[in-house]
Amino acid sequence: MTLCADLPVSASTDMADAYYSVSLRRLWRNGSRQQKTGFLLAWLLSTVLSVSLGLAAVINAWSGLPLEFGGVAFYVSIYPPLLICSWWALCFGWGWGALPAYLSTLTLALYAGMPWYWALLFACGNPVGLGVMVLGYRAIAMPCLLTSWRALVFFLQMVFVGCMFSSAAALVWCYTNQVDQVAVFAIWQGWWLGNFLQSVLLLAPLLALTWPQAEAWMLRHQQLLAVQPTESRKLVLRLMGALILSVLIYAFTTIWLGTESVDAQLRSGGLEGLGLAADRLSAMIWAFFWVIAFIALFMGMFGYQMFLHWHRTNTTLLQQLELANAELAQQARSDGLTGLANRQSTNQALADCWHNSRLRGEGAALLMLDIDLFKRINDEHGHVAGDKAIRKVAELLRKEVRSSDLAGRFGGEEFVLLLRRCEQHTALEVAERVRRHVEQALIDGEGDAPLRLTVSIGVAMMAGEDEDAEQWLRRADAALYRAKHLGRNQVVLAA
Ligand code: GH3
Ligand code: MG
Ligand code: MG
Repeated sequence: MTLCADLPVSASTDMADAYYSVSLRRLWRNGSRQQKTGFLLAWLLSTVLSVSLGLAAVINAWSGLPLEFGGVAFYVSIYPPLLICSWWALCFGWGWGALPAYLSTLTLALYAGMPWYWALLFACGNPVGLGVMVLGYRAIAMPCLLTSWRALVFFLQMVFVGCMFSSAAALVWCYTNQVDQVAVFAIWQGWWLGNFLQSVLLLAPLLALTWPQAEAWMLRHQQLLAVQPTESRKLVLRLMGALILSVLIYAFTTIWLGTESVDAQLRSGGLEGLGLAADRLSAMIWAFFWVIAFIALFMGMFGYQMFLHWHRTNTTLLQQLELANAELAQQARSDGLTGLANRQSTNQALADCWHNSRLRGEGAALLMLDIDLFKRINDEHGHVAGDKAIRKVAELLRKEVRSSDLAGRFGGEEFVLLLRRCEQHTALEVAERVRRHVEQALIDGEGDAPLRLTVSIGVAMMAGEDEDAEQWLRRADAALYRAKHLGRNQVVLAA
C-alpha cells in the first residue's frame, strides 16, 4: 500500500509517499493481542474464502464464457480468488495476497487431478502476477486510491502486466490437460482477458471503496509496517525488466500458439478449413493489435509516470536543500545568543552602507552601544542573568529598527545600530529612545530581585571626511567612550 503521509517507519525512503506493507514479524512483535487476532483472523477467513471460491470456479466451470471484443470472440474465465488476493496484496503487501493465491490454485489443480509436481508450478502464476503489480506500485509509490486519472491509468497498466504474467499458468493447464493445439490459444487469451476484466470491473471499485479505510488503518498502525530498504532505482530496473519480459512472453506466445492453431486448421483440409484458418489468423492479428496498442500506451504512460515521480522527488529534495541553505546562511550571519547580526555581517553591512550612502549622497547614522558596568552584573548575579540582560537589550534594539536598518551584536555586551537614510535629529531620537527603554526594562535576576540596566551610546553621522567605514566606526566608538567618561547612561554625538 502506498501511504501519502510522511511515515517515520522507513529510515531509507527519501520520498514523502512510499509503498508500505504489513510485516508479519512486526505484527508478531509490536502488535497487541487484539491487532494480531483481528488481522490474522481476517486474513485466514479471506484465505479460506479464496480457496473455496477457487474450487467453486472449477466445479461450476466458470471458464470459457464467450465475449465479443474488438470484433474478436474471446472466451473469458472468471476466477474470484484473484479479486480477494489482489486486494490483500495491494493493500497490505505481496505476501498477504500471494499465499492465498498460491493455495487456492494449488487446491483446485489437485482437485482437478493435475499431477502434484505440475500443480506446484501451475500455482505460481497468480503470485508472480501479483508480485509484478506490487513491484510497480513500490517503484512509483502511486496511491491505490483510484479517484484520480493518473492512479486509475496506472492501476489498469499494472493489472494488465500482472495478468500477462499470471496467465502463463494457462499453458501448464493446457499441457497437463492435453488440450488440443487449436484450443490452447483461446484458453490462454480467455485466461488473461478474464483476469484483466475481473480486476477492472470488480477490483477497481472494491479498492475505490475500501482504500481510505485500509490507508487509515495503516497510518494508525505504523508500528506494524515493514521498513522498505530497497532503493527505488533498483525497483524501477526490476519492474522494467518484468515489463519487457511480459511483452516478449505475450508476443511470442501469441504468435506461437496462433500459428499452431492456424496450422492445425489448415491441416484439417478442405475449403472450409482454409476459411476457418483465415478467420483464426485475422482474429489473432486483431487481438495482437489491441494488446500491442495497449502495451504501447502503457509504456508511454509508465515512462511519463516515472518522469513525474522522479521530478517530484527531485523538486522536493531541491526545496529541502534550498531551505537548509537559507537556514545555514542565516545562522552564519547571526549571533548565537541574541539572533542579531554577528560581528562579521555587521562589518559587511557597515561597509556596504558607507559606500551606498556616499554614492547616493544620503545621510546614515551609526549608533554604538555598550552596557554600563556589566562586569558587576555578571559578578553579582551570575553569567546566566548576564546573558539574559544581553538578550533583553537585543530585543529592545530589534524593536527599534526599520527593515532597512541593521541591529548587530559587535561582541560581548556591545551593540551596533546602523540607520540608513537617516538624519541626525532622528538618529539622536532613536538613541535616546533606546537608552530610555533599557533604563526602564526589568530583567529577571535568577532568584534575586529584578535587575536594572543602563547603556551608553555613541552616535556618529556619516561624514564626508571619513576615509572609510572603519573611520566612521572609530568616531562612534570615541563618542561612546566619552559617554562613559561623562558618567554613563547617556547619548553622545560624535564630532
Ligand atoms: P563599562 O560600563 O565601562 O562598559 O563597564 P563594564 O563592566 O561593562 O566593562 P566591560 O565592557 O569591559 O566589560 C564587559 C564584560 O562583559 C566582560 C565580560 O565578562 C562580559 N561579557 C562579555 N560577553 C559576555 C557574554 O556573552 N555573556 C555574559 N554573561 N557576559 C559577557
Ligand atoms: Mg560595558
Ligand atoms: Mg564593553
